[in-house]
Amino acid sequence: MDHEVVRRIPRTDALLAEPRLAAAARRLGRDLVKSVIVAAQDRARHGEIAPEAVADAAVAALPGTAGGLRPVINATGVLLHTNLGRAPLSRAAREAVLAACGATDVELDLATGARSRRGRSTLEALLRRVPAAEAAHVVNNGAAALVLAATALAAGKEIVLSRGEMVEIGDGFRIPDLLVSTGARLREVGTTNRTSPADYAAAVGPGTGFVLKVHPSNFLMTGFTSSVDVGELAGLGVPVVADIGSGLLAPDPLLPDEPDATSWLQAGASLVTASGDKLLGGPQCGLVLGEARLVERLARHPLARALRVDKLTLAALEATLRGPETPTFVALHAELEGLRERAEHIAQKLHAEGVDARAVDSSATVGGGGAPGVTLPSAAISLPERYAVALRLGSPAVMGRVENGRCLLDLRAVPEDEDAALTAAVQAVGVA
Ligand SMILES: *Cc1c(COP(=O)(O)O)cnc(C)c1O
Repeated sequence: MDHEVVRRIPRTDALLAEPRLAAAARRLGRDLVKSVIVAAQDRARHGEIAPEAVADAAVAALPGTAGGLRPVINATGVLLHTNLGRAPLSRAAREAVLAACGATDVELDLATGARSRRGRSTLEALLRRVPAAEAAHVVNNGAAALVLAATALAAGKEIVLSRGEMVEIGDGFRIPDLLVSTGARLREVGTTNRTSPADYAAAVGPGTGFVLKVHPSNFLMTGFTSSVDVGELAGLGVPVVADIGSGLLAPDPLLPDEPDATSWLQAGASLVTASGDKLLGGPQCGLVLGEARLVERLARHPLARALRVDKLTLAALEATLRGPETPTFVALHAELEGLRERAEHIAQKLHAEGVDARAVDSSATVGGGGAPGVTLPSAAISLPERYAVALRLGSPAVMGRVENGRCLLDLRAVPEDEDAALTAAVQAVGVA
């Protein structure tokens, strides 16, 4: 180690007083900024940077926020990217979260000063969107909704489920395993490809907790197949719980094969369960909608407390339900022509600065384990492959996809107001 170099490295106190780092300490906390400073000093000690560059290096390494999670521009072309946190929240939802961060009336009626049902206004907003449901309850995610239904309605009893609907959602999460973990017994009926009404009728009896209908949301089955729809199951004389998965509240003509809560309730489902952060485009949560008598049994079960959502989720969900349209909806329904124009515009701008960028046609998917057969025509900016890593490490990070030796930045999942940040991120790599 060169002692002369070490002597020239600025001391931690001096760096904490440097205006940019002092401002960062006020915003992000002193400990975080100190750890960034120590890392920069280490780099100078190892000869990676000059001692005079320590302050600049520390500033460059400051995170955008105090949290460990970094903002990412989703240019993958997958609208609901599970690894990127599924649905991005609308501006209204973000503002609602911010407003609820401090003390808030989540369980209080400000008019009377008395305690009120937790999240009452959120539940009302949900029921306004799904008038076919008598009552609603919100839990932590779609899996929690199933756990609560299984525990409250079928502990020690049987859940009747078609072998064609024993679905693995992703990352090893299997719905049959989840159901069995609650103490309910699984009564499998039919075969992988074909299940008939008679299969269900033969299995239903005094030991039945409910019949479960699971939408196979992430795969398609074709050929010699048959399944029984909710309307037919409703005639069996036992509750029908229907897991639609994606959280569509009403039909979307663009996704004719995706079930929605309204249609399945109207067809006779007793309860519908769904995720809030898939096609509904809201925060992670699980929705339970349906007959008041059953929803109450779930909401009053002791386990409900362990699965309840926090005020931030309730705030974000309510704002999502009240509208305006969510980023997920906008991305799903964006016209190809508009995406192409945005891609042309960005590519031209980059090209003028010497970046090897061009606008190309692309295809996007819904993702998040939904609408497996659907491809959405899209447009992308095509860059040399080396951009992929540099963009991922930038700030904000940009996640594209590599295809045929090129890095594609697909615009369908990128909100239009992020185009400037996306362009700047590529420019930052280009000049580096
Ligand atoms: C996604 C999904 C789930 C699980 O929902 P999470 O919100 O991820 O817990 C359950 N069932 C179906 C059919 C799904 O698509």
